[in-house]
Amino acid sequence: MRDLSNDRGLLAINSATVKAWSLAQLVDGCARAGISAIAPWRDIVQAHGVEKAGKLIRDAGLAVSCYCRGGMFTAADDAGRRAALDDNRRAIDEAAAIGARSLVILGGGLPPGSKNLAGAHRQVREGIAALLPYARAANVPLAIEPLHPMTAADRCCVNTLAHANDICDEMGDGVGIALDVYHVWWDPDLPRQIARAGKRILTYHVCDWLVPTRDLVFDRGMPGDGVIDLRAIRSMVEATGYNGHIDVEIFSTQDWWKREPDEVLRICLERHQTVV
Ligand code: ZN
Repeated sequence: MRDLSNDRGLLAINSATVKAWSLAQLVDGCARAGISAIAPWRDIVQAHGVEKAGKLIRDAGLAVSCYCRGGMFTAADDAGRRAALDDNRRAIDEAAAIGARSLVILGGGLPPGSKNLAGAHRQVREGIAALLPYARAANVPLAIEPLHPMTAADRCCVNTLAHANDICDEMGDGVGIALDVYHVWWDPDLPRQIARAGKRILTYHVCDWLVPTRDLVFDRGMPGDGVIDLRAIRSMVEATGYNGHIDVEIFSTQDWWKREPDEVLRICLERHQTVV
């Protein structure tokens, strides 16, 4: 097995993991910890001011592994769908301003009151197709993140890597995959679909699945504390040629969000070097 202890440069900290921090605090914290990449959410970038955020990140020499997040294309009417596209164009501008390597895209769930899942799938495809020329012009690839099926109704109706790969097949250049182990680890088709995704994997997110899980969204585990075979999935991802960052993304109201963020970063780095 390859030596994983020397690849600290591959670690990216997702801002959701240290939710208490502002962008400036995240940049400083990564400098203190010797971490060279971040994956910010829009809230902290907007709070800092987008242009200033780009300068802060560039001056610190940090890479931006991905920008979280856009998408949410589904809506009950045309006005809602247009508003979603407008917001996604702003997200692309922000991603370009901070030098993000991709914009993570969630499809969106069922519109309020709807039971039309096939219609939601169609709206996602139409939304991505409508956004794509703008994303290509800005040189910001769209990274479709398949989410666990438990989120199909309220956040994302693209629930398997196979479905995300199908959309990529249809869309062509400028679209790829955000692969998050929390959402796909259970899938018996995962090895085949990772191989099929190949060069389309744009960003790779890790955490762990705790047993028992106290909250299906906000009780993600630190890598190594749960049941996901992180080394096995990483091997499959790297076998496709992926050599980008490994982004630790942990939503954890009851545990990690209560801890001192510097301690969280230290443990992320230690786990990155031992179990991821
Ligand atoms: Zn993710």
